Amino acid sequence: MAKKIKKSKKKVSTSSAKKKAKKTTKKKTTKKKKVTKKKVAKKKTAKKKVAKKATKTSSVRKKVAKKKVTKKKVAKKATKKKVTTSSSKKKTKKVAKKKTAKKKVAKKTTKKKVAKKATTSSSKTSSVRKKTKKVSTDKALYDTMLELVRATSTEIPDDVQKVVLEALAREEKNTTAEYAMNIIQANIKLAKMKSQPLCQDTGTVHIFVEHPAGLDQSKFRKITEKAIVDATKKGYLRQNSVDSLTGKNEGMNIGPGHPDLHFKENPKRKTIKVSLMLKGGGCENVGAQYALPNTELGAGRDLDGVRKVILDAVQKAQGKGCGPGVLGVCIGGDRGSGYKNSKEQLLRTLDDTNSHPDLKKLEEEIVKTSNELGIGPMGFGGKTTLLGCKVGVLNRLPASFFVSISYMCWAYRRRGIEMDSKMNIKSWIY
Ligand code: SF4
Repeated sequence: MAKKIKKSKKKVSTSSAKKKAKKTTKKKTTKKKKVTKKKVAKKKTAKKKVAKKATKTSSVRKKVAKKKVTKKKVAKKATKKKVTTSSSKKKTKKVAKKKTAKKKVAKKTTKKKVAKKATTSSSKTSSVRKKTKKVSTDKALYDTMLELVRATSTEIPDDVQKVVLEALAREEKNTTAEYAMNIIQANIKLAKMKSQPLCQDTGTVHIFVEHPAGLDQSKFRKITEKAIVDATKKGYLRQNSVDSLTGKNEGMNIGPGHPDLHFKENPKRKTIKVSLMLKGGGCENVGAQYALPNTELGAGRDLDGVRKVILDAVQKAQGKGCGPGVLGVCIGGDRGSGYKNSKEQLLRTLDDTNSHPDLKKLEEEIVKTSNELGIGPMGFGGKTTLLGCKVGVLNRLPASFFVSISYMCWAYRRRGIEMDSKMNIKSWIY
């Protein structure tokens, strides 16, 4: 453009027309230039506007896009959040479920553990209880038997004491018989007061146990033997049991046949009945057994024959056996069962009456007649030879008719107890 302008200026100088023309052309060109410039400017402004618009639109678009992006992002975030929240919720739910499941399991396990503990503890406690119960029951039996031995050795039963006092009252004053009965009575008092044996010979230990079903007899025997050993150590019993062949005394009162323990099961019983009898050797020596008929005594196989042999035994025991005594008699049986039953008759109280009228009559006759023999206490003469007579009966064989007599001295040591299920003394029989 500048070159064209320079060429046109050179041509104007030559001619004014040309100059004018040129001026007009210049004007035209300037006008044109101005117009073009304006157009260009307009175009530029338009372009600028367009550009601006474009930029605006682009910025708007960008903004929109940005907004969209942000929205999308937000949406994504939201979705993410939703997802995360839902997933987290799910997760938390799952976790919660797991936790609850774990808790349930834990609860179950704890319950099981508790149940186990309870069962184990209960089983343990029950076993402990059982053990303690066993131990306490065994200890109670031991204590009971020890006390029974002590009481039997040192305290005469009331029914015996009563007839001793009756005999003392019966004897004439200032006689040897009265003297003997006074000594017996003083002995009884002193033994009870000092809890010492009534006599130096504490005798054979006879124990009769009547029990309901289920008693452990071997354990009962074992515990009873222990009580007897300890009663011997304490002095309630003399060291009395001797080996029959060697004469050796172990000093424990334990050995074959000693104690003489008899068990009898009675399913109707609820308590255990234990009767203890201490039978001295001196009075045992004057026991007797007769086989009827006895031609020497003129005793046949009837109650009169029985009466004759019993009185014969009383006669032969005079001065021996520490009278006044008590007879236990068995009619029938064999030699073994007869003697056993005669001792069992001594478990009856002196004030009882025989349920068989003929035997009741026989018992009364024997005591009355014996006391009229004049033998008296210790054989010193007097009115009291017997304190009582108890007669029992057993079946026999046609070929045999035994009358078995056990003689008990004035030291009539016989006591008994009823035990409860815990082996404690419930009541005293004598
Ligand atoms: S018989 Fe009786 S009173 Fe006489 S010493 Fe023997 S146990 Fe003692």
